[in-house]
Amino acid sequence: MKRELPDEAATVALGRQLAPLLMPGMVVWLDGDLGAGKTTLVRALLRALGYAGPVKSPTYTLVEVYVVSSIYWYHFDFYRFSDPEEFADAGLDEYFRDDAVCLVEWPEKAAGFVPPADLALHLRFPAHDACAGRIVELLARSERGLKCLTALANPACQGED
Ligand code: ADP
Ligand code: MG
Repeated sequence: MKRELPDEAATVALGRQLAPLLMPGMVVWLDGDLGAGKTTLVRALLRALGYAGPVKSPTYTLVEVYVVSSIYWYHFDFYRFSDPEEFADAGLDEYFRDDAVCLVEWPEKAAGFVPPADLALHLRFPAHDACAGRIVELLARSERGLKCLTALANPACQGED
């Protein structure tokens, strides 16, 4: 599924739509160049869930922890990894649990170590400089991920099983 995100508000709107669809145990990969809007999307998602505090990029901390709606939300950023093995060295496996949602920026920097995604979001800049905004491609990589995308594509069906 592909969507155009003509401005920041569109990225925020996508984060809001995605927020209620993510279930504990899910892993979401966000990839795309610096400035593509990965952190913007995560921030919007957490805000939509009612988190009112600051949502900083975890570029330096590796992971930021949020507890919202009795669920752990872990926001990772592996940009600074020089070797994927750093994922294992830091013991990050422990975060990927059934009671947590893991949102991962730069998953490719931890390739082979980071658990697989239920949903993979690819954010990119449009090919022509003339047009602003971003383009997002959303890929389901599991049954749960597919349910999310189906609900996202058919907002009227949200909440049904
Ligand atoms: P990343 O985490 O991918 O490095 P950030 O979310 O930190 O990116 O930064 C993205 C920047 O682009 C922010 O300044 C944000 O306002 C802007 N932005 C986000 N989405 C869009 C969009 N769809 N169109 C234009 N600008 C956007
Ligand atoms: Mg970021």
